[in-house]
Amino acid sequence: MNDQNNSDTLDNAVRRLLQWRGIRITEARGRGDRFFMGLPDAWYESPMWACANGHVSTKYLKSERRGTICLSCQAQIWLVPQITQAEIAEVMSNKKEIV
Ligand SMILES: [Zn+2]
Repeated sequence: MNDQNNSDTLDNAVRRLLQWRGIRITEARGRGDRFFMGLPDAWYESPMWACANGHVSTKYLKSERRGTICLSCQAQIWLVPQITQAEIAEVMSNKKEIV
């Protein structure tokens, strides 16, 4: 039961992170930013990685089995625009609408 609840919570967090990320991508397209492999060029210039548990880092772990994963919690990570730990906490909290 608890496992189910935890995975639901994680799914929601992943959705929230990807929704926020999708908005940033749409904005970059709207500005006419250059893209590489579906993401804004700028994101690759100083790469930042985020997981659904609210960790952001410029570093990540590489796992043969699971690909690139979070340094703090080993969850899946995504390349994101520059963001601080405080800002990602805001994004991941349910208190604020994603804008
Ligand atoms: Zn993490």
